[in-house]
Amino acid sequence: MTVANEICCPNCFSMIPAEAKSCPACGERIASLSARGYREKLLHALAHPLDDIRMRAIIALGLRRETVTAVPLAECALRHPTNVVEGMEVVYALRNIGASRERLHALAMLANDHAARAVRAAAKAELERNLADGESTDGGVRSSF
Ligand SMILES: [Zn+2]
Repeated sequence: MTVANEICCPNCFSMIPAEAKSCPACGERIASLSARGYREKLLHALAHPLDDIRMRAIIALGLRRETVTAVPLAECALRHPTNVVEGMEVVYALRNIGASRERLHALAMLANDHAARAVRAAAKAELERNLADGESTDGGVRSSF
């Protein structure tokens, strides 16, 4: 799990070591950011016009595994219906996020509404896997991984 030791710079969105006190790429001080502030910046980056910036935010949010980000991630994918790579990355990020009602809702949004068949299929497969594992739909959290 070495990848979990990288974070996304909230200023320039470079991938940098989690222990860095400032970003090697742009110099932004990382230590001064609260965890909550960092999450808000990543969520904000989901609306960025550049594909590459959104992609880094999607990956970084997946690594954080916070259920509150599941639906914003799905909404990001739905805003870019022709970007299959981005849609698939959102499905991967949702896979990382803990079992929760939010994640099931986000996967269902993609399985039902995404324009790309590959993304719908990936979300549906993940959804079915979760349901087969007995993931609770009433908001209960099971620590299956
Ligand atoms: Zn930076």
